Amino acid sequence: STPFLSIRDLRVHFGTEDGVVKAVDGLSFDLEKGRTLGIVGESGSGKSVTNLAVLGLHDPRNTKLDGEILLDGKELITASEREMEQLRGNKMSMIFQDALASLSPYHTIGAQIGETYRKHTGASKRVARARAIEMLRRVGIPQPDMRVDDYPHQFSGGMRQRAMIAMALVCDPELLIADEPTTALDVTVQAQIMDLLKDLQQEFGTAIIFITHDLGVIADIADDVLVMYGGRCVEKGTKQEVLRTPEHPYTLGLLGSMPSLDGPVDVPLSPIPGAPPSLLNPPSGCRFHPRCTFAEKVPGDLCSTEQPALKLTDGRGSACHLTPEQKRELFADYATAR
Ligand code: SF4
Ligand code: MG
Repeated sequence: STPFLSIRDLRVHFGTEDGVVKAVDGLSFDLEKGRTLGIVGESGSGKSVTNLAVLGLHDPRNTKLDGEILLDGKELITASEREMEQLRGNKMSMIFQDALASLSPYHTIGAQIGETYRKHTGASKRVARARAIEMLRRVGIPQPDMRVDDYPHQFSGGMRQRAMIAMALVCDPELLIADEPTTALDVTVQAQIMDLLKDLQQEFGTAIIFITHDLGVIADIADDVLVMYGGRCVEKGTKQEVLRTPEHPYTLGLLGSMPSLDGPVDVPLSPIPGAPPSLLNPPSGCRFHPRCTFAEKVPGDLCSTEQPALKLTDGRGSACHLTPEQKRELFADYATAR
């Protein structure tokens, strides 16, 4: 069967004064309903840009999209702004790091959730208000029939995040895109929000794309993982595959600071030496080669001259010139340390 979301060879290029920024450069993946795909990478790896493109929230004046984005069989790249607006909030929805930016300070929480519902269902104000209260209850806001008339500033940070989730889910979207939604929250609230998302997914069968720079979050919530570097996918697989037996040196670097999969979730990324690549003038060959400590193990100057293809078998694989034998040997220390 066709996957619920299917992205093929997506390219997102921005025109700038200095030239064309290739923020996403040939990305493909599928996502089924009821599953969570974790997209992980440093800032500037293209993970947020990819999802803004799916939502149709990129700036059409300077952004060029190529490839295919199929949502339930509908092509989104060629869809009109009106069609996209109808899909957003209804069939697909998003939550971001900053709830304050998504909520208007001038309207009550209930009015905002209700308005989203009315826009897509044509429900009456009375029905929409009841629905808002119901959603606030679902996301764990105490006394929702009272709090529904509060303004965003009367909510704590964690409650605002819950309210944003309530607004995102009010129309039962089939796809939820979460871009670092818990980054600004303390660890306890973060864990509560993650549990809430998992519960809601169970209940509604939502497909979730969870964007983060934090592998602890991935370990907690993802079914599948896609690792992005320099606008491309460098490794893909199930969470267990990617976190337990990484195949790409960049993933290995990202995992460097995680003592174990069962450890605390708030371990920061250990920085990988060197800077993320320029997307205006990406490095030749493998985009990771200027930072890769394994490049010297590859014969000749292959790493700096030839871009490694992403080789996938049943959705599992990586883009790196090292042979499987080399990886087993070179990454062995890592595997035993887990
Ligand atoms: Fe490192 Fe070469 Fe593999 Fe790129 S292709 S990750 S430079 S070993
Ligand atoms: Mg981002």
